[in-house]
Formats: sequence, structure tokens, C-alpha cells
Amino acid sequence: MPSYEDLESKVIDTGICTVCGACLLACPTSHVKYIEGKPRRPKRTMDCVGCSTCYEACYMFRHGLIKDIEGSILGWGKKDSVGIYKRIVAARTMEQNIEKACQDGGIVTTLLIYALDRGIIDGALVVGKDAWMPVACIAKTRDEIILSAGTKYGVVPVLKELRSAVVDHGLRKICVVGSPCHIQSARYLKHKGLPLASSVKLTVGLFCRENYDYQCITEKARGKGLNINQIDKFNVAEEFNIYAGGKKLSFPITEVKSCVPKHCVVCEDFAGELADVSIGSDGSPEGWSTVIIRTEEGEAVFSGLEREGLIETEAVGGLVYIREIAQRKREKGKQTKDIFKLKEEGLDKKEIAAKLGITEERVSHRLEGL
Ligand SMILES: Cc1cc2nc3c(=O)[nH]c(=O)nc-3n(C[C@H](O)[C@H](O)[C@H](O)COP(=O)(O)OP(=O)(O)OC[C@H]3O[C@@H](n4cnc5c(N)ncnc54)[C@H](O)[C@@H]3O)c2cc1C
Ligand code: SF4
Ligand code: SF4
Ligand code: SF4
Repeated sequence: MPSYEDLESKVIDTGICTVCGACLLACPTSHVKYIEGKPRRPKRTMDCVGCSTCYEACYMFRHGLIKDIEGSILGWGKKDSVGIYKRIVAARTMEQNIEKACQDGGIVTTLLIYALDRGIIDGALVVGKDAWMPVACIAKTRDEIILSAGTKYGVVPVLKELRSAVVDHGLRKICVVGSPCHIQSARYLKHKGLPLASSVKLTVGLFCRENYDYQCITEKARGKGLNINQIDKFNVAEEFNIYAGGKKLSFPITEVKSCVPKHCVVCEDFAGELADVSIGSDGSPEGWSTVIIRTEEGEAVFSGLEREGLIETEAVGGLVYIREIAQRKREKGKQTKDIFKLKEEGLDKKEIAAKLGITEERVSHRLEGL
């Protein structure tokens, strides 16, 4: 029977672990901890029964199943490189205090508050911050939801809080907000029938080209003369942007490529394809969000926001653009995965290039995360 040791050697130590938090959540005796940015069981103790629950909870072993899940839960919709969907619109919040706190159009925060006020959810797994370090949190009130607004870069085991949300806080109608990897994992746990996951009633995915190691971007900011505590906002589009003291500092994304974790360079999901609703900034003007509504649950909550005038909507201008980003990420992730696999089999760069029909330079770039 596979156990924690297999999870550690096949996923955590190989660098493909996305730090979704599912193994931390699943261990019935809380032996898997979050240590220095990774899930770890500190040492084998008598209490670790070798039950394999942590291993079974990891969606990394079952990527084929993601396709089955897509077919069974997302149901009817159009399908292209951003996944299955019912409709895509641009939107922004009408609430001024959300506008001040949010990252883009404030749709995530507005949607969570609406869902909470109407009893559609009784809480949400969100991401707060310590300085700018992302921290997994449970939000049960309007204020807690607003406090979590804004994007924080860095890995964060969002799903680890699900146990506490259900067991300690008694929540039964939870919304999970997260990157596409968090959403894939949450869907997988539901599909597997993990009892705690039955309380997840809604999922909101964030678009994601890549993530950055928190310590690494802290160092990069320091190198630009900025202390992390002076920073008001991070944002990544065509450039890496840091807002501080009313000024905007932009530099090429290539300067932060060394901060991208390995699991992100092999990732193929840009648009949170398994979420009920996916939200990002790409494809819409500054201050607006692009919203992809995929499921009946997603449609019910989003049309509620429209009906009650909590948001403003318009047609999305950049549909072709987001389709291209999604397609490029899928192809790049797949190719990088193949390159790592061949490297592990002992092939050198030249052999890998020949085998995949690409240049040696491309192989080097992919291995460096470019
Ligand atoms: C790592 C990362 C990469 C991204 N890359 C892109 C991109 O390439 N293109 C694009 O269009 N959009 C990207 N986004 C999404 C974008 O930054 C906004 O989150 C999105 O547009 C929603 O904006 P909003 O104003 O509606 O959100 P808000 O109302 O401000 O709410 C933001 C929500 O994001 C959650 N959150 C914050 N940080 C994290 C985190 N690290 N992990 C999980 N959840 C978090 C919070 O819980 C909060 O509920 C990325 C987000 C993240 C976290
Ligand atoms: S008790 Fe079970 S779930 Fe927890 S670490 Fe040990 S094998 Fe994994
Ligand atoms: S369940 Fe998530 S956090 Fe745990 S090893 Fe797998 S990918 Fe990593
Ligand atoms: S690039 Fe993929 S693995 Fe990395 S944070 Fe985004 S969704 Fe997760």
C-alpha cells in the first residue's frame, strides 16, 4: 500500500507538488505539516499508521481523471483552450470599498460577499497575508472577505484549512478560492468522496500564467531598493509591476523567472478549467475582470450579482488574447514536462532536442523556466 514515503519521493521531493494543501488536510492525525513552504511529515512516529490517506488525497497521481471530472461535473458548455464554459464577460464591482481593496475588478470579493449574504455559502477558503507572504485563511464575514482581497504571490496550501473550516467552525457550504491547481485538487477530493470535501459547494478559480516564490520576489524587490513592507500591490501582466508609495515600478518578467517554482513550469491550466467561475485580469481593461462562467452553480451566483446591480458588465474585448495565453501555457507545460522526463531518463540537451524536434536553445530555456 502506498504511504507518506511514496508521496514524499514521487511528488514533494521531485518539485511537482503544487502545495495545494490536500495531503495536510487529509491526514487524520495531522502528521503532515506545512514546513518551509512544503508539506512534510517531520518524522515517522507511532501515530502515523501508514494508512496512505495522504497519498490518496494527492491529485498529482491522477491527472487523467481531471478530464473525467471535467466531463462529469462541468456538463454542457462551449469548449476551447480556456476550458468548458457557458459565457465569458468583463465585469467590475460597483462597491467602492471593494474597489479600493481589490486586485482588478473586485469580482471575487463581490461574489463571495453576495454568496455569503444570500446563504449560498457560509464561509470561504481565501488567502490573506503576513507582510506579502500568502497565508491560507477561513473567511466567515464580509470584513474577513474584504481583508483577503488582492493578489499575493507565493505558494499557499489553501486546502489545508478545509478541515478546520468543517470541524472547528462547523461550515457546510464552503467556497474555495484559488489558483487552477487548488481548484483541480478540490475537485479531485470531491470526486474521490473525501467526506470533508462534500462541504465544498462553490469554486472560484483565478487565471494563472505562473506563480513566484515569495522569498525570491522579496529579494528581487529589495534589489530594486524596495522593502516588502513598503509595497502596496504586485501585479503581473506583460511586465512584473510593483506599486509602492504612489509609484509604479515595472521590469521584464525574465528578471523574475528564477523565482518560478518547478511545478509552475510544467503546469498546463491557465484559466482554472475545473472551477464554477474563473476570474482574471487578462482580456479586460485595467480595473476590470474577465469572468468565465462554467457551471449551473456559477451561473446562479453570477447572474445574482448582475440582477442586484452589484456589478457592471460588458463584452470581453480580449477573448482571442486569453485563448492564446491558455493555449501557449498548455503547449509549453506539456513540452517542459516531456523535457524533464527525458532528462530524468538520462538524455542530454542535444538528445532531448533531437527526440522532440526542437532546438537545443529551446530545451535550455524550458529547463530554466523561460
Ligand atoms: C499566483 C497568481 C497568478 C495570477 N496570474 C494571473 C495571470 O497571469 N493573468 C490574469 O489575468 N490573472 C492572474 N491572476 C489573477 C489576478 O491576480 C486576480 O486574482 C483576479 O483578476 C481577480 O481579481 P479580483 O479583483 O476579482 O480579486 P479580489 O477581489 O482582489 O480577490 C482576490 C482573491 O484572490 C485570492 N488570492 C490572493 N492571493 C492568492 C494566492 N496566492 N493563491 C490563491 N488565491 C489567492 C484571495 O483569497 C482573494 O479572495 C493570478 C492570481 C494569482 C494568485
Ligand atoms: S497517518 Fe496516514 S495520512 Fe497521515 S502521514 Fe501517516 S500515512 Fe499519511
Ligand atoms: S496533495 Fe497537494 S500539497 Fe500534498 S503532495 Fe500532493 S500536490 Fe503537494
Ligand atoms: S502555474 Fe499552475 S501550478 Fe503554478 S500556481 Fe498557477 S495554477 Fe498553480
